[in-house]
Amino acid sequence: MAEYTLHTAHLYGDLMNTYGDYGNIVALKFYAKQLGVAVDSKVISLDDDFDADKYDFVLFGGGQDYEQMVVTKDLPSKAPAIKQYIENDGVFLGVCGGFQLLGDYFVLADGTRVEGIKAMMHYTLNQPHGRFIGDVTIEDPTNGDVYHGFENHQGRTFLDENERPLGMVKQGNGNNGEDGGEGLVYKNTYGTYFHGPILTRNGNLTLRMLQTMLERRYPDVDWATQIAQITPESF
Ligand code: GLN
Repeated sequence: MAEYTLHTAHLYGDLMNTYGDYGNIVALKFYAKQLGVAVDSKVISLDDDFDADKYDFVLFGGGQDYEQMVVTKDLPSKAPAIKQYIENDGVFLGVCGGFQLLGDYFVLADGTRVEGIKAMMHYTLNQPHGRFIGDVTIEDPTNGDVYHGFENHQGRTFLDENERPLGMVKQGNGNNGEDGGEGLVYKNTYGTYFHGPILTRNGNLTLRMLQTMLERRYPDVDWATQIAQITPESF
């Protein structure tokens, strides 16, 4: 058994997993292994309990409008635990449909308004004609990091004042095609429209998130020094 283990939850992984969003957990496992850390994962789906204290990382992937409608019926039972996890600085990644559902509300392609869990107050409007599809490149204004991904969404998301974008768009559309932002950062929660998945294509971001998880779970270890010794270029 590994000395250190991180526990991850894949929320509605059987319903919300567009373009293999589970690959984000695979990427995490890959990098954690270089540090001698094991990563386990559990799908938490309809009618399952979500025990916020158990997890070091939560992934909520993308889905089409239909799957989003299905999970919307189950989400109220998990919303308090998800909010508690986020407010307690848990590391969370919401991708596309999962990113939308963390917010205030989103509007389906057919115009129906669906309530989000309001863990944050971004909101998503529809786009009656067309979708945003294609490669995206963004730059994180706080550290200059560049991230690459692929977007495919009709929703147009607008952030609340407590949230900052994960990056500014250099290529592609991002959250809404208007304000130049892509994704969100709030505490240790990240939202994004990036499939790809984002953590397989952007090892710099994966390592940063991994460090946060490890420092929360095992605060007595100098993870920063260990992580500085592994870089995506070293593989
Ligand atoms: N159904 C949502 C939209 O089209 C999310 C799509 C996705 O998760 N890829 O905006």
